[in-house]
Amino acid sequence: MEVEIAKDIGFCFGVRKAIESLEKVVDEYSEEEIYVTGELIHNKDAIKKYEESNVKFSQNIDEYNGIVVIRAHGISDEEREKIKSNPNVKKIIDTTCPYVLRVHYLTKKMVKEGYHIIIIGEKDHPETRGYYLNVKDNSTVIEPSVGIKELPKVKKVAVFAQTTMNYEKFKEIVKELVTEFDETRIFMTICTPVINRQKSVVELSKECDLMVVLGGYNSSNTKKLRDLCAKYTKAVHVERISQLNPEILKGKRKVGIAAGTSTPDWIIQEAYEFLKNYAPS
Ligand code: SF4
Repeated sequence: MEVEIAKDIGFCFGVRKAIESLEKVVDEYSEEEIYVTGELIHNKDAIKKYEESNVKFSQNIDEYNGIVVIRAHGISDEEREKIKSNPNVKKIIDTTCPYVLRVHYLTKKMVKEGYHIIIIGEKDHPETRGYYLNVKDNSTVIEPSVGIKELPKVKKVAVFAQTTMNYEKFKEIVKELVTEFDETRIFMTICTPVINRQKSVVELSKECDLMVVLGGYNSSNTKKLRDLCAKYTKAVHVERISQLNPEILKGKRKVGIAAGTSTPDWIIQEAYEFLKNYAPS
């Protein structure tokens, strides 16, 4: 079977840097409990491997007791202060991605300049929640899957995107917003690695009869990649290739592989080997 891997795939530099930092911490502080402010990689096997090395993935700041690693998609200022003032926390390693820090900086700056902040992102995603909590008295979250429901009664707005959102959806919502206020400032804050991944899966989807999208079932950017692929061809989202029902491969000429920014390389390679050698019975 013909198989092609999308040009831009797998770990982005932000997630890679966070993993490298965590591995360093695991080596250096083997006697300590290590806490990460949520799942670093959306893969059960990788999470299990870290858990066996004394790492706990938890958003419950009150239980932190040892070394804390702040993951790439960041936290709010209030949460950071709470971690700092926890007497049981011995050291904080902050791996917040520069793309996320930029949004925190800009949203606060625009509030000072009198703008109401509109964040297009998922309310429950830790990244969007972090932005919102920092400027909550002056901000509104629009969920891409829900669209525009109720808008604030203000004159000036500054619009931001969660770094992992679908760029076509962002354009759609922004188009609707610009006619609603006297002044609309738009900040393109979807990160470059995510845009490149989205563009490369669109290209590949147009050539394939099936796209297999690899990533955790709770990975927001993987779900978005799957939806994007599904606009152009048949698409299926699995965590590991072993979860793919082989029935779906019957009659397929070319299969493409895509993966979210938190999918380890070995999962991509494993899928490639399986599909390359797949012979329908
Ligand atoms: S997806 Fe983008 S913003 Fe998030 S960690 Fe990766 S590079 Fe940074």
